Amino acid sequence: MTNCVSILGSTGSIGRQSLEVIAALGISVGALTANRSVSLLEEQARRFRPKLVVATDEAAYLDLKGRLTDTNIRVATGMEGLMEAAVLPEADTVLTAVVGVVGLRPTLAAVEAGKRIALANKETLVCGGKLVMDNADRFGAQIVPVDSEHSAIFQCLQGCADRGAIKRLILTASGGPFFGRTRAELEGVKAAQALKHPNWSMGAKITIDSATLMNKGLEFIEAMHLYRMPPEKISIVVHRQSIIHSLVEYCDNAVLAQLGAPDMRLPIQYAFTWPERMPGPIEPLDLLTCGELGFAAPDLTTFPCLALAMEAARTGGTATAVLNGANEVAVEKYLQGEIGFYDIPRLVERALATVPVVQAPLLEDILAADRAARETVMR
Ligand code: MG
Repeated sequence: MTNCVSILGSTGSIGRQSLEVIAALGISVGALTANRSVSLLEEQARRFRPKLVVATDEAAYLDLKGRLTDTNIRVATGMEGLMEAAVLPEADTVLTAVVGVVGLRPTLAAVEAGKRIALANKETLVCGGKLVMDNADRFGAQIVPVDSEHSAIFQCLQGCADRGAIKRLILTASGGPFFGRTRAELEGVKAAQALKHPNWSMGAKITIDSATLMNKGLEFIEAMHLYRMPPEKISIVVHRQSIIHSLVEYCDNAVLAQLGAPDMRLPIQYAFTWPERMPGPIEPLDLLTCGELGFAAPDLTTFPCLALAMEAARTGGTATAVLNGANEVAVEKYLQGEIGFYDIPRLVERALATVPVVQAPLLEDILAADRAARETVMR
């Protein structure tokens, strides 16, 4: 059970929901960080009274420092600030809710400090999965997933003493806002339409990733590292209702699933309270009114990002960091209206074909692959 938590990315969707959970559980806050949402960060700092707040953006930092002069809260900036928040001695848990590969270095630092990682930054495992998991073993850091699918699997694995008894992990996918559509129908689709997710309320980047199914691809890679499973032991099934959050199939063909209302506050809370459970922050699931549960195979032709991610997972090494870096830049360009929907997979595919793969990469190799992928897309 967590006593004090530092939140990397406290003003985003996960960060805000986690503070609701923290307030309800009476957990204290060690550090809060954001990029440049100064007003919200100030409000959170005044309410939760952390030791440290970080605005990674320099101008935002100066603004925030001015606003908090009447408090004894330390204010810091940049990657150094993020690193300081990650290893703050008061906190036993670090919730990593920043978006993108920027979370990798602070997560590694928190792992080396032996913290519990409540992991909501999937790009960290996508880019540096083996390194992060090996270091977690070495430094005795627990990694508890916040991503709803991985939390579901984590919950289905409680009491599983022998990982060899796992036959297959089954990740469920909502299918995103464009399920059932064809490639021809989606060629000209704009970001505004892609931002309308049917079941989950999330930030812009992850919502576009859900529309392209890259999100499921990133989660495939995340699951591979988190549970040390080869790609061939992970399946994806489209489940439109988002009631079953994922499943584990064991060698005796027993299949365990975790069900619940689609609300991130449950996996957030479980990451804090595990191995215990506390009364829930979410609505109970009413099986009589939740409707029929359906399943379908993912459409890899209409959503090539998922196929690219699974291919990068099989290649291994820095391929997944290239996939992620290229996708981050492509999604940003798509959100700005600079490129079309299918330019996202085209650019990711080109980066994967261009940037050489390094197997068993060190942190420098991962960051270099990420940079090279971004440059390829920029060009
Ligand atoms: Mg998810």
